[in-house]
Amino acid sequence: MKLPPNIKPYPFFWKKIKFLNRIGGDAIYPFIFLRNDIFNDLKSSSPNPLSIALLEHELLHLKRQKEQGPLVFSLKYIFSSRYRIKEELLAYKRQAEILKKYNKEFDKKVIAKNLSSWMYLWAISYNEALKLLS
Ligand SMILES: [Zn+2]
Repeated sequence: MKLPPNIKPYPFFWKKIKFLNRIGGDAIYPFIFLRNDIFNDLKSSSPNPLSIALLEHELLHLKRQKEQGPLVFSLKYIFSSRYRIKEELLAYKRQAEILKKYNKEFDKKVIAKNLSSWMYLWAISYNEALKLLS
């Protein structure tokens, strides 16, 4: 698929930081950064539905950042765990809708594990995240 110029692979220094490689993508208005394998897959003629769903997750973040103002969004996202979880649940909901279109399962346990981890600054407990995703 053809990607617009604001969608890019992570810059090289990001790849040097090992633990960050677990994250598939990031929306930092007006850009979306993706892990190399996902970026290349999306550029191929038949991208994996998982990559498409991840891109849609990030596109939803970008839309919300634009609507609320990127600075306001970033500050609230960093400092309010409740806001962070609210925004992530919206993005994961979008991701699940896309996966469903391709008859793919949305792995709630993995998402709940991620939401309750360092990746989202321990914003929520695993059980609470799992409940909200159901
Ligand atoms: Zn997200």
